Amino acid sequence: MKLPLADSDIRQTVTALIDGAPVRGGGAEIPVFYPATGGRVATLIEDGAADIDRAVAAARRAFDHGPWPHLGVEERQDRLCRFSEVIEDNIPLLAGLECFDTGKPMRDLLTRYLKRTAHCFRFFADYIGQSSGVVYDQVKGYRTVVAREPIGVAALLAPWNSPISLGSMKVAAALAFGNTCVLKPSEQTPMALVRLVELLHEAGLPEGAVNVVNGRGPVTGAALVAHPDVDLISFTGGTETGRAIMAAAARNLIPCMTELGGKSANIVFASADLDQALDGALLGIYTNAGQQCLAGSRILVERPVFDAFVARFAERAERIRIGDPTDDATEMGPVASEAHMKHVLSYAGLAREEGGRLVAGGVRDESLGNGYFVRPTAVVAPSNDTRVAQEEIFGPFATFLPFDGVEEAVAIANGTDFGLMSYVWSDHLPTVNAVVPRLRSGGIMVNATMMRDLRAPFGGFKESGVGREGGEACERFYTHEKFVSTRLAPGPLRQLGAA
Ligand code: NAD
Repeated sequence: MKLPLADSDIRQTVTALIDGAPVRGGGAEIPVFYPATGGRVATLIEDGAADIDRAVAAARRAFDHGPWPHLGVEERQDRLCRFSEVIEDNIPLLAGLECFDTGKPMRDLLTRYLKRTAHCFRFFADYIGQSSGVVYDQVKGYRTVVAREPIGVAALLAPWNSPISLGSMKVAAALAFGNTCVLKPSEQTPMALVRLVELLHEAGLPEGAVNVVNGRGPVTGAALVAHPDVDLISFTGGTETGRAIMAAAARNLIPCMTELGGKSANIVFASADLDQALDGALLGIYTNAGQQCLAGSRILVERPVFDAFVARFAERAERIRIGDPTDDATEMGPVASEAHMKHVLSYAGLAREEGGRLVAGGVRDESLGNGYFVRPTAVVAPSNDTRVAQEEIFGPFATFLPFDGVEEAVAIANGTDFGLMSYVWSDHLPTVNAVVPRLRSGGIMVNATMMRDLRAPFGGFKESGVGREGGEACERFYTHEKFVSTRLAPGPLRQLGAA
């Protein structure tokens, strides 16, 4: 198996980055593995409470005394655009590191994820150039101006499934609205994000504006979110972790947004273009080996076309080219870790125990050496009440359920604790119009696979999270509103004690 980068391109030791300089924390050494080979590629040095103190203090200094929050908007825009350019210029390096971290196919990283990361900084640069405060002048004699100001030090926590896109979006948004931050990547996937923040410094990011700490969630993450000098928290990760994060935010009474898990319904009506729906269903669950919060992991198919659709899906799933992430022909890479591979595979056994029918995969691909390769898997579940239909498996694992008509489609789609995305496939407009308003999810794609418009608020209903990310949504989250009411002309005031 080829490696995405030469050894000389990667740092063997991954440390914190505080005030723009590497700082070796005082905690445990944690191995970082390349999921495609199972080989160790780097060692992460865990940061403990004292290291978190330093990182938060650096961000605090940068906020209270540094230039970043006080830059004029146009200057901040220029810097964000420069950050975008430096990311563009380093796409092969960052893609290689992200591939080492995650095993994602290089082709996807080069053509989509990294371009998106660069675009995100430009997007927020554009956004802040257009947004403005509000003036109220309805009360006679007064003018009230509502302005927005940065909040302070943001704690940003990213998961392992798409570290660079998800982590960098938080960094771009926090910076765009004038905050400083401490970023904690997942301990499994720190390399690309740390390098990205180093590149931002090379491109003119002031010291302390973005600091990085590394380590496991219950150690480094928990210390960061509980830190009394953190002013807001943005978290993307699992639902159970989300509860702990929100509890920590509640203790310090600070704003917190959480983007959590999903078990999204991909609803295929008989009235759909079934070829397109098939392509969409395969992309919806096997992109990034199913390790996407927004994966269409429950595939609901109308009964008259159910058997034929499942058969075609299974046949295509078995033909998906999995293997070396550096090979342009590879369509699906490994899952992110050995433990996660075992977790995903355990659901194949569970599906059988629950009376499900395995129609594709369900096994590790032993032909690919020690990499964490799970064959694209699909099961037909006996009901939506089974664990394979309810639990987020977060791997290349599709769960099929049949339905009859709009009512049942809606009931099954909404019959989950999650509510992140839904996908609807039908060429019959009244069917689409009947279903869409009733789906309890933060986003709905109609006759399309996921397309993330950064302007639109992204986030979940129910246990998929609290809060949204997007242009305006981030402006609301990363800024305080402040009103200033001015009396337009002097006049008599009520005079207490004057009589
Ligand atoms: P996770 O919750 O285990 O970890 C996410 C981050 O939080 C990591 O940096 C981790 O180290 C840290 N963390 C873990 N426990 C912590 C604690 N007690 N206190 C503070 N920090 C802690 O999630 P994961 O396994 O890295 O990612 C997979 C999950 O993320 C899936 O459930 C997936 O659906 C979700 N996800 C959601 C979105 C979304 O936008 N809704 C996007 C991507 C992933």
